[in-house]
Amino acid sequence: MVKGMHDILPKDQDWWESLFETGWSVAGLHDFNYIETPILETAALFEASVGAATDIVDKEMYVFKTKGGERVALRPENTASVMRSYLEHHLGYFSSPLKVFYCGPFFRYDKPQKGRYREFHQWGFEILGDGDAVYDVSIILAVLDFLWSLKFKDLTLKINAVGCRICRPTYRTKLKEYYRSRKSKLCKDCVKRYDNNVLRLLDCKEPGCLEIKKEAPIILNYLCSSCNNHFRAVLELIEDNDIPYEPDPHLVRGLDYYNKTVFEVFSSKLEGSALAGGGRYDYLSEIIGGRPMPAVGAAMGMERIIEAMQESGLVPTVKRKKKVFFIAIGEEAKKASLKFINELRRAGIRTLESLGRKSLKAQLKSADKHKAGLSVILGQKEIFEESVIIRDMKTGAQETVPVGKLVERVKKGLK
Ligand code: AMP
Repeated sequence: MVKGMHDILPKDQDWWESLFETGWSVAGLHDFNYIETPILETAALFEASVGAATDIVDKEMYVFKTKGGERVALRPENTASVMRSYLEHHLGYFSSPLKVFYCGPFFRYDKPQKGRYREFHQWGFEILGDGDAVYDVSIILAVLDFLWSLKFKDLTLKINAVGCRICRPTYRTKLKEYYRSRKSKLCKDCVKRYDNNVLRLLDCKEPGCLEIKKEAPIILNYLCSSCNNHFRAVLELIEDNDIPYEPDPHLVRGLDYYNKTVFEVFSSKLEGSALAGGGRYDYLSEIIGGRPMPAVGAAMGMERIIEAMQESGLVPTVKRKKKVFFIAIGEEAKKASLKFINELRRAGIRTLESLGRKSLKAQLKSADKHKAGLSVILGQKEIFEESVIIRDMKTGAQETVPVGKLVERVKKGLK
């Protein structure tokens, strides 16, 4: 397998199904509609929007030339693609604001480690076309409802503002002033960041840089009145809705397109690795060639959520139907069995089989292994008598029932 990639295996199904089920349910309740954009986009889309001087684009993007000479990238995130799609299809005509959600694979050529893969999956929510603080909080609520539905109880919402075109330059200058005399103590990457993208210095996880960050100026002292009012409105709504939060005055996020609100959500069991991150991105539309249009969104890392659930002792929330195991003894019975299996499945009964195994013993073993509540057994004698045997797998009690009563008796037995 290619380094940094991973398989999602059948044994993990309950986890993934829980996340998909929860995601679709929360999206429905919050009125978000499904959008899916291609995995390949032009590299320029992310360079312009996420930012050429961000780690995601500068170091981690999978970029290559197609046979036709086009420079394309495996998408490292989805907000830019959703905005591209919004502009290309004039989605604002259909709904304003437009509320969409997505899920799928994303690619970042990062150092593979626990909780950090080169291919990972995100579930995201975006609201495009409205700049009101109520939508910042709607996104936060969608993310938290998703995680709360999975039974997380230890979440921390960290929130900050990153300013706008008016106030951010002043803050940038202040940061440069602060870091200038400390440049020699910064890591190699941060020395580069100092020149290219000084806000990114606040995102570095190197212990030395973290120490220097502690005393760094905070943006809240430099916000313009519009950003200040917006941030206050967001915090007020958060408090009105009893959402626990922690202001983090140095939170900046690793993508350039954010303005005003930014936030991340953490579980105490996976400290240092955010489960979700998002913010407002009012300039993104213009950056990629559209008219000015406010928007806000967030994405959650699905592998990280599963890891955090496992670390927290949570279990998959998916509720599986009870199952019945169909056993056929002999060639005749095997041939006849699909008809009965179909009848059970069409009646909504989850029906398993291992018809490739010949003996009754081997098939009963399979039924036990799959923890089936009941088995239906069909042999030569039963075919002749137009009956089946229903076996309670716990007690071993068996009863013979006419084929016409199969569905009714299995339903009763599984209750
Ligand atoms: P971002 O797009 O960087 O804002 O990330 C949003 C969320 O995606 C993060 O909070 C993580 O949960 C998840 N995520 C980001 N990068 C990775 C990665 N390399 N491996 C696994 N999950 C990731």
